[in-house]
Amino acid sequence: MNYHCKDCSYRGNSSGQDGSCPACGSFKLGRISRQDDEKPKAGKLRLTLLVGLWVYLIGLIIWKLNH
Ligand SMILES: [Zn+2]
Repeated sequence: MNYHCKDCSYRGNSSGQDGSCPACGSFKLGRISRQDDEKPKAGKLRLTLLVGLWVYLIGLIIWKLNH
């Protein structure tokens, strides 16, 4: 289980006493689950698709200008 502190951006496998952040003592310590790790990947995939679409459109415009 990984922990992530929202106050000092601590990331580690262990939490402090009574579930507080071992780095700054904050209680805003969140657990990083697998679902949270998959979300940025989905965003990256969407960004890649968007960039690919733009490259296709720009290529089409350049092709039309040359023909
Ligand atoms: Zn902290």
